[in-house]
Amino acid sequence: MIITTYRRTVTLLVVLLTAYTLQAQHRAKAQQIIADLCTDEMAGRGYINQGEQKAARYIAEHFKKIGLSSKTTNYLQPFSLDVNTITETKIVLDNKELLAGVDYLTAPNSGSANVAGKVFYVSQRMLSSTNVAKKVKRAVRKGYIPVISSYDPKDEIAASNAKEIRKCVDADMIWLKESLTWSVGREQAKNAEIWLLASAFDQMTKDISLEVKSELIKDYTTQNVYGYVPGTEYPDSVIIFCGHYDHLGKMGEAIFYGANDNASGISMLIDMAQYFVNNPQKYSVAFVAFGAEEAGLVGSLHYVKNPIVPLSKTKFVFNMDLMGSGEQGATIVNGSVFKSDFERLVNINTTNDYLPKIKSRGKAANSDHYFFSELGVPSFFIYLMGDYKHYHIPADNAANLKLGPYYDKSFLLIRDFICSFSK
Ligand SMILES: [Zn+2]
Repeated sequence: MIITTYRRTVTLLVVLLTAYTLQAQHRAKAQQIIADLCTDEMAGRGYINQGEQKAARYIAEHFKKIGLSSKTTNYLQPFSLDVNTITETKIVLDNKELLAGVDYLTAPNSGSANVAGKVFYVSQRMLSSTNVAKKVKRAVRKGYIPVISSYDPKDEIAASNAKEIRKCVDADMIWLKESLTWSVGREQAKNAEIWLLASAFDQMTKDISLEVKSELIKDYTTQNVYGYVPGTEYPDSVIIFCGHYDHLGKMGEAIFYGANDNASGISMLIDMAQYFVNNPQKYSVAFVAFGAEEAGLVGSLHYVKNPIVPLSKTKFVFNMDLMGSGEQGATIVNGSVFKSDFERLVNINTTNDYLPKIKSRGKAANSDHYFFSELGVPSFFIYLMGDYKHYHIPADNAANLKLGPYYDKSFLLIRDFICSFSK
C-alpha cells in the first residue's frame, strides 16, 4: 500500500510537473511573441516607420511556419485608410521640456504648430464664468497661448464654454486633463491641440513653446492577416478566431507598444493556430489578425465587406483583445446576445475550474467582433480582467506585462469552447 501510494504520488507529481513545465514553456513562448511585437523596431505597430507592416509580416511568417493554409498572397488582405501621423513633438514650459507620452499627448487629429508665447491660463473658475471664449480669443490676438483647465464634464457651464472655445477660437491650444489615453486620428485639424496632464502643469508657468509636426497620409495601405486550418467534414464552413495586431504607433519620440492591447491577443491567436493545426476540427478554423482596429475597426469592416469565406458560411467569430491578465476573470461582449453559446462557455469554465468568473455584456462597438454580429454572424469578444491597468499609454509595454497562469487557463477555455462546435 505504501509503495502504491508512493508510486501514485510520484506519478501525480510527474503529471503535475509535466503539465506545469508545458504551461511554463507555452507561456514563455507567448511572452516572447509579445516581446517581439513590442520592440522599438515595430514602432507601436502603427503608421510611422511602417510598424504595422512589420508586425503583419511577422504574424504571416508564424502562420507559414505553423503550417496554416492561405487563401491570399502571403496570408495578407490589403486595404487602405487615411491616417494622421504625429512625427515630431516638443513642448517647453519655462525652459523645462516635457516628456512626450507621459506628461502630454497631442490630440489624435492635431495639426502642426511651431509657436512660442506667454501663457493665458483659463482656470476652472474662469471656465465656469461668462464670456470666456471671447476672453480667450482676445488673448490669442495678443499672442498668448491658451492653457485650458480640466473640468468636470458634469459641470454644464464649463462644458458648454469649452465647446465654444473649441468652435470659436482659431489657435494652437493646450487642454489640461486628469489622465491621458491616446488613439489614432484619421483627419487633421488646422491647429495643434495638446492634452497636458494637469499634474504636470504649474499654474505659475509664464512661457510656452510648442512644436508639433503632423502629417495626414491619404490612402495608407495596411492589411489583415488571414490563415486557416481546413475542416475535416465541412471545409466550406469556418469558425474565425481573431484579434487586432495594430496599435497606436508613435507620437514623436513616444512609442505606444500595446503589449496587452493587443500583442497579448495575437500571441494567443498564434498559440491557437498551433493547436488547431495539430487538432483539425470538423469545420475550418481561420485565424485573422486584423489591422487598423485602433483607427476605428477599419480592418474588420473591410473584412466583412470583402469576406474571404462568405459570412453566411461563418459559424462563429471569437475575438480576443486584452488577454494579458485574468486574475479577475473575463468579460464576454455579446454574452447576453448569444445566450446559448454563452451558457456553453460558462459550463466549460465551471466544469474545468478555469477562470474565477465570466461576466456577460451586451453588444458594444469596442473591438473587431462588432461588424460580424451586426451582420448576423454569432460572435463573442473576450477580454481578461485583472490588476494590469496600462491602457493606450507607452507603459503598456512588454516589460510591464507578465503573463500569469490565467493566460494558460483562458487558452484552454477558448480552445474547449471552439472544439465544442465539432461535438
Ligand atoms: Zn485593442
